[in-house]
Amino acid sequence: MHIVFGVSEYYPLVKVGGMADFAGSFTKKLASCGHRVSVVLPGYSAIERNRLNVKDTGIQFTIPIGKENVAGSVSEIKMSENLTIYLIENEHYFDRDYLFGTGDKGYTDNAERFLFFSRAILELAEKLPDADVFHMNDWHTAIALFYLKEYYQKLGKFTGVKSLLTIHNLGYQGLFWHHDMHLLNMGWEYFTADGIEFYDHINFLKSGIVFADEITTVSPAYAREIQTPETGFGLDGILRSRADHLTGILNGVDYKIWNPWFDKLIESRYSGKQFGRKLANKMELQREMGLEKEPDTPLITIISRLTEQKGIDLILPVFDMIMDMGIQFVLLGTGKSDLEDFFRGAEHRYKGRVVSYIGYDETVAHRIHAAGDIYLMPSRYEPCGLSQLYAMKYGNVPLVRLVGGLRDTVITTDRGMEQATGFGFEYYSPYTLYETLKDAVTLYREDRDAFQRLARNGMEQRFSWTETAKNYQKIYKK
Ligand code: ADP
Repeated sequence: MHIVFGVSEYYPLVKVGGMADFAGSFTKKLASCGHRVSVVLPGYSAIERNRLNVKDTGIQFTIPIGKENVAGSVSEIKMSENLTIYLIENEHYFDRDYLFGTGDKGYTDNAERFLFFSRAILELAEKLPDADVFHMNDWHTAIALFYLKEYYQKLGKFTGVKSLLTIHNLGYQGLFWHHDMHLLNMGWEYFTADGIEFYDHINFLKSGIVFADEITTVSPAYAREIQTPETGFGLDGILRSRADHLTGILNGVDYKIWNPWFDKLIESRYSGKQFGRKLANKMELQREMGLEKEPDTPLITIISRLTEQKGIDLILPVFDMIMDMGIQFVLLGTGKSDLEDFFRGAEHRYKGRVVSYIGYDETVAHRIHAAGDIYLMPSRYEPCGLSQLYAMKYGNVPLVRLVGGLRDTVITTDRGMEQATGFGFEYYSPYTLYETLKDAVTLYREDRDAFQRLARNGMEQRFSWTETAKNYQKIYKK
């Protein structure tokens, strides 16, 4: 099949979160299964072009945005025989400091930017060999499926082409005020409750949910949860109405990148069998980050976007109580400024015991997983979550809130120590998090063998892309 895959981030070219990892690994796997895969990505200035073989395709187009005709062009990067990345070029929209905006706020013209991008995917697809499936991801590209059904197919184009929307995070919907309707150049008849309207706003993600042939999300538990008012962000009703076309498929891990046995970014390579060699990574991290050199002190770690989704706010009220357990704490993350400030302050207050690395750094992420004993991920909601899967592979035992993909991937201690891979709690409260962490730290201190068994059990888990790709291909075939 020829799959046209629209996405707003792609590892290793540009990454903000897990969707980039998904896009990079999944499309590689699809191409290796023999499909032709055309990835379409905004031509952000953040992409390091001089390190890549970027070629101009000569393809140019204009897109009507309101009353203007906005011009764009297309570059390409050939990744392999079957896999090409097409970059949609427009300096005004994509030559910016950030992809979507700063931690607190999206760019004010995001409606225009991603409308342009989504329509450009279809314009480009007209010039490529016939597509079989359009596979779009999250709100940034969802609206392409609205245009596919209601504009292009009504003009007799892309007949027989089927479409799939993958929801990676329902919390981000691309909501814009109704005055932006004129940008779309589509009639107001679509601005209704069963169309693209959402509480008097335009909702880009909803447009995909309504008009896609099939919908997937990134774990079976999340597929169920988004159909409830608690986790549905107001879209649970429309998702329930599409339940027959909604499937949860768990993401995989690229173990070529995330594997302590091959990892060149860490100090000392190790496996479950040579678990003792993990310790050198902890000692090296303590040295380079200025933590006290205490090999036996439990090292609690977090690598995350700092947003409410990740449950970071649960940690703040009990942070001092956690530190009273006599642990060390390392955080790598960026996001909401009040959360960044809190952790900067914590580093100051607990010199030598807390390190807050406010920033984004892939190498440091690998080194923290290799060094860590316990990985905290108390998410409010979690579509799939990749960080806990990486943590497990590095024997950095996850402690998670049991929601979405975390529920589907972490086997908690109450299910038996023989098979458990981590700790979990359900009730969303700082104190429950604290109590669960206390249990974890107690096990670490009082029964190191049992604790290491959990770590090694986690290292043996396999969340393979082969399985994930198989499930997606079933949907494509359908
Ligand atoms: P989400 O996509 O919701 O952010 P995931 O757990 O699915 O959460 O994926 C997060 C990905 O982003 C992981 O690969 C994680 O290592 C990475 N990541 C998050 N924050 C940082 C950071 N500050 N520096 C480096 N990597 C980060």
